[in-house]
Amino acid sequence: MRDLNRRTFLGIGSTLLLAACGSRSSTAAPRDAATPTKHIVDEDDMPPVRAACVVDPTAKNIEGPFYKKGAPHRSVLVEASDPGERLILGGTLQSTRCEPIGGALIDVWQANAAGAYDNDGYRFRGALTTDAKGRWELRSIVPGRYLNGDRYRPAHIHIKIKAAGFALLTTQLYFAGDPYNDGDPFIDPSLIMQHSVEKEIRRARFDFVLPA
Ligand code: FE
Repeated sequence: MRDLNRRTFLGIGSTLLLAACGSRSSTAAPRDAATPTKHIVDEDDMPPVRAACVVDPTAKNIEGPFYKKGAPHRSVLVEASDPGERLILGGTLQSTRCEPIGGALIDVWQANAAGAYDNDGYRFRGALTTDAKGRWELRSIVPGRYLNGDRYRPAHIHIKIKAAGFALLTTQLYFAGDPYNDGDPFIDPSLIMQHSVEKEIRRARFDFVLPA
């Protein structure tokens, strides 16, 4: 208590001194040489030091043979008559310094429910733009699996992201729980999405980080 009163007194004294003079004054009471300056302000009152935000970029993943340029600009890839489990997939796009990246183009392509790509047209292909906060959302279906050699690839969605000032990212997203995730020669565990099902719609999220 005695110490608190002393610190409070010194703090008030300093405030008055600064308000009255704005600088040193020879009329101020001499500071007790045994009282370090740092005790005038409690450490609890100091603003916290903010660490710089740094995150790793999203892992790259192979492009595969079915990418096709010129996909229409849209975020809804599914039509009412398409078979397949409905999927709402969304997230954010940011830099490795945690800054949102708006206006980026996310090019998406995937297989239909039967595991086939449309190489003649643009079914289940689309390019969408992130908003000012880096947010994006896609409405589609859970892709069907297809054979790669003698085994199926797990369900996956191909992604290519282009943003001014950043390196191009080509990757794929996978679904947790797919029995073909284990042993797939291309999968990266960091690209596996958790997901939930609400009202028969699968919902998943992925937050991309672009390399500088
Ligand atoms: Fe594929």
